[in-house]
Amino acid sequence: MAEETTQKTVDDLADVTDDFSSWYLDVIQKAQLADYSPVRGCIVFRPYGFGIWEHMQRLLDARIKATGHENAYFPLLIPESLLQKEADHIEGFAPQVAWVTHGGDAELEERLAIRPTSEAIIGTMYAKWIDSWRDLPVLINQWANVMRWEKVTRPFLRTTEFLWQEGHTAHRTAEEAHEETLKMLEVYRAFAEEDLAIPVHKGQKTESEKFPGAERTYSIEALMRDGKALQAGTSHDLGTHFAQVYDITFQDQDGERRHVHQTSWGVSTRLIGALIMSHGDDQGLRLPPRVAPVQAVIVPIYRKDEEKAQVLAFAERVRAALVEAGVRVKLDDRDQHTPGWKYNEWELRGVPVRVEVGPRDVAKESVVFVRRDDRAKSFVPFAEVGATMVSLLEQVQDALFERARAFREEGTRRADDLATMAALLREHKGFVSAPWCGDAECEAAIKAETMATIRNLPHDAPEEPGACVRDGRPSRQRVLFARAY
Ligand SMILES: [Zn+2]
Repeated sequence: MAEETTQKTVDDLADVTDDFSSWYLDVIQKAQLADYSPVRGCIVFRPYGFGIWEHMQRLLDARIKATGHENAYFPLLIPESLLQKEADHIEGFAPQVAWVTHGGDAELEERLAIRPTSEAIIGTMYAKWIDSWRDLPVLINQWANVMRWEKVTRPFLRTTEFLWQEGHTAHRTAEEAHEETLKMLEVYRAFAEEDLAIPVHKGQKTESEKFPGAERTYSIEALMRDGKALQAGTSHDLGTHFAQVYDITFQDQDGERRHVHQTSWGVSTRLIGALIMSHGDDQGLRLPPRVAPVQAVIVPIYRKDEEKAQVLAFAERVRAALVEAGVRVKLDDRDQHTPGWKYNEWELRGVPVRVEVGPRDVAKESVVFVRRDDRAKSFVPFAEVGATMVSLLEQVQDALFERARAFREEGTRRADDLATMAALLREHKGFVSAPWCGDAECEAAIKAETMATIRNLPHDAPEEPGACVRDGRPSRQRVLFARAY
């Protein structure tokens, strides 16, 4: 094997522990995930970043379809009158809505909102499509872009335009709608944990944090490596609220006309931010293999010309064997960079496994695998590269999840009084599990004092009678507080 170069041509990243915020922005730029655009608050998804989204889409779409949903597409523009129909909804979104006022030079008679979400337009269509109990349930999902005028933006986490999926379902009974809301929350949990290797807490949002117009909102909440929480997906039980506003009724089995019960649920490109902040380290990204655009990169190592031909020919055979095994592999045969430079770059870009091929490997008909997550090396005979890689990728996926879970467990602390809670949040951030009486005033006061919000009332928390951290009133279970993105 050629000697490893120590040349460091990939610029140093900001320190992940000292300056997480700069580290995050550096990684996005240097790994070529996204770039800033001439439009304020809007980012460009570069191919590598969009590639991650495509894999997320593919995996989540399969889960959404496996639970009986179909995809459709609704218009980007929503007439103002439709949006105005629902008071809470418009009030919730009004400050963030972008409006189309002109077509060419002509002023429109009615302003059109660029969708901040699609309840209004989809509800209007459902009113046309649903007539009988036999038409129910309606289980539709849409992959789309939405726009919310944001004052402070941050790539992937909060951008004016973002990409997402939004599911919108209509049901005969409240029970069915509630069951659907929780079913999709579970789909999100499984997707986050199994595909993205991000452990999450499922739970219910408080009244003050719920979706405008929803009866109940549920979320999955994750812990980022800087100790801040991130809401990674939401599922809303809309009750008959929107059905009453948009007049979505059906004739029930007993002949009565009733309003449908609805749900909506979504995850967005914010999950790319979650991925970066859950797994990254000092060298850059660490991508879970299931969503990595490149799962393995082959770096050929040679110094002399006669070595080059041999090494590249062997590297090509390794590439073909990995493709054959279903691995997304790239052979980095660029001449202008040294192997060491390439190691740095692919580590920065989070490729789960590096394959090193040098003249001595050619002679032995074997290669070296190096894991991105823990740098462990293994020597693999050529005949076994495919099978070994497939199993190694699974191991990397599992290890990333376990590491993130251990980090979250360490980062979750209990407090029974406000002073302890404030100190924990100041010193460690993380989740603080604490009793809360259920009162919105307490919630607001705790937020003012600690900058922490109630992330959710976790479903996995046991019943545990206690006294509210702020005013001592009775609490039924501990809730999760954190400072959040
Ligand atoms: Zn209280």
